[in-house]
Amino acid sequence: MKKHNFSAGPCILPQEVLRQASKAVLNFNNDDLSLIEISHRSQPFVDVMEKAKSLVKELLAVPDGYSVLFLQGGASLEFIMVPLNLMKEKGKAVYMNTGTWAKKAIAEAKSLGEVVIIGDPSKTKYNYIPKGYKIPHDSDYFHCTSNNTIYGTQMKIFPDSPTLLVCDMSSDIFSREIDVSKFDLIYAGAQKNMGPAGTTLVIVKDEILGKTGRNIPTMLNYQTHINKESMFNTPPVFPIYVSMLTLQWLKDLGGIKTIEQLNQEKADLLYAEIDRNSFFKGTAHKDDRSNMNVCFLITDSRLEKEFNTLCMNAGINGLKGHRSVGGYRASIYNAMPIESVQILVNIMKQIDEK
Ligand SMILES: *Cc1c(COP(=O)(O)O)cnc(C)c1O
Repeated sequence: MKKHNFSAGPCILPQEVLRQASKAVLNFNNDDLSLIEISHRSQPFVDVMEKAKSLVKELLAVPDGYSVLFLQGGASLEFIMVPLNLMKEKGKAVYMNTGTWAKKAIAEAKSLGEVVIIGDPSKTKYNYIPKGYKIPHDSDYFHCTSNNTIYGTQMKIFPDSPTLLVCDMSSDIFSREIDVSKFDLIYAGAQKNMGPAGTTLVIVKDEILGKTGRNIPTMLNYQTHINKESMFNTPPVFPIYVSMLTLQWLKDLGGIKTIEQLNQEKADLLYAEIDRNSFFKGTAHKDDRSNMNVCFLITDSRLEKEFNTLCMNAGINGLKGHRSVGGYRASIYNAMPIESVQILVNIMKQIDEK
């Protein structure tokens, strides 16, 4: 049965990428060896790493002076690597609190220094992005989360930060155009728009490093990985390879401009139905709605069972909201075709027409 995968992460990847990836596991480059059994220092894999990096640079128009890294430990390890590498001894950082992931990042930073928190939308289940805030000048950096995967909110504009600007872009990187030059450090776990779980993309401005005065453990020091071109230790070869294939797929499709437009069309289609149909209700403020994770509730709980059954029978997978918020969450990442969104919308219409 054809499935429509609305999972929030790990999530949908393009079918042709999965086909190519499975082929490479058995026979990479027609060399009768598997991608995952050759040396990461062999030329075929060094080429993969180089290609992956250059695709990131090309697709996001990364300016000179930035390094592109493929690390491990997920976005979650970045929560501590960022303060370790950017917060001065007895320093101070500013964090925007937009929900679960931001809170986890805040907890890690607090273990190293003072954290000033901007915004507290917790009373309204994090259904909006704080606005009109001032970032103190005397802080080491400002950290924000571009897309809140769990609550379905997304930053539409980024502040002109008087201090270093750091962003967790795990769930919307490569989904829309961003001006990388505005940011000093961007990180993203691969498994939401780039590839399988197991690697984390980091884009860091070289000149901001080495200024904290603290002793940073080798593996947690960005400079280690810059110096060794993400090969200080064995890199996660398979996730990096699949990420490379996905980025190549994106390039062939027409790049970020094209995918941004497609993502907008998918989001518009789904939000329009949520707003039209009185049996459903969007949870995020309209101005802050995510184009990646569409969170909604069913207004009459007696219809829940029927809606769930219709979805299941149509092959819809992964629509359940995060366990901390309930309701529904349709994750419509880059690889999700609009046809799958239409199938979900048709089911919502069916509920309405009964
Ligand atoms: C999923 C997610 C994370 C956690 O990523 P891991 O790679 O599992 O550590 C962090 N931030 C955001 C915004 C996410 O969506």
